[in-house]
Amino acid sequence: MEPCPSDLQACTVRPDTPLVIVDVDEVLARFMHGFGTFIGRHGFELRVDRFALFQNIYRPGETEHLDLIAGRALFDDFFRDGADDLLPAEGAADALADLSARADVVILTNAPEHGRQSRIRWLKTHGFDYPLVINSGPKGPSAAHLSERTASPSVFIDDLLPQLNSVADSAPWVSRFQMVADERLRPLAPSDPERHARIDLWPDLKAAIERKLFP
Ligand SMILES: [Mg+2]
Repeated sequence: MEPCPSDLQACTVRPDTPLVIVDVDEVLARFMHGFGTFIGRHGFELRVDRFALFQNIYRPGETEHLDLIAGRALFDDFFRDGADDLLPAEGAADALADLSARADVVILTNAPEHGRQSRIRWLKTHGFDYPLVINSGPKGPSAAHLSERTASPSVFIDDLLPQLNSVADSAPWVSRFQMVADERLRPLAPSDPERHARIDLWPDLKAAIERKLFP
């Protein structure tokens, strides 16, 4: 599916300013932790034993994961109602605040459209008051669209290897960083560090981004 074109148009990207394009879940927000808390309140448990989502939801005591339709329903509910359970990734707000003094920041998330208002409130509450683009599907075309508006360097940060590959394919001039906020997911997340730098701590990631944006 195409990204929301009105979101892309509404973003301010200055033509002479470096650009940071950043994901939310597992980059700015501790998604797995929050989703686990949320489904726990609904009587389920999250077992982080593989890099997956719906296959990690169980009824307590059972060995077969919840069926995917029921898992999907919990996921949809979380995006609408779960903001209070979602905590920010450590150091993310400070790092983006520093970067935004010299760069434009755009948040590019694949949240479902019904979670838009909840997500906007969550971002503002936690110090991420930057333009938001709700995307659907691969992020490469949106990253290309945004980064083509500036003559300065751009970076893209995401936890998911397919999204990093998508940006490498559609916008190879954009520097890519993989960041996984959840300590349990870090050893499970597929990576390709030869192709996309992998840095899981925001202070280190910020320093690496600065080297790309302000050489
Ligand atoms: Mg993510």
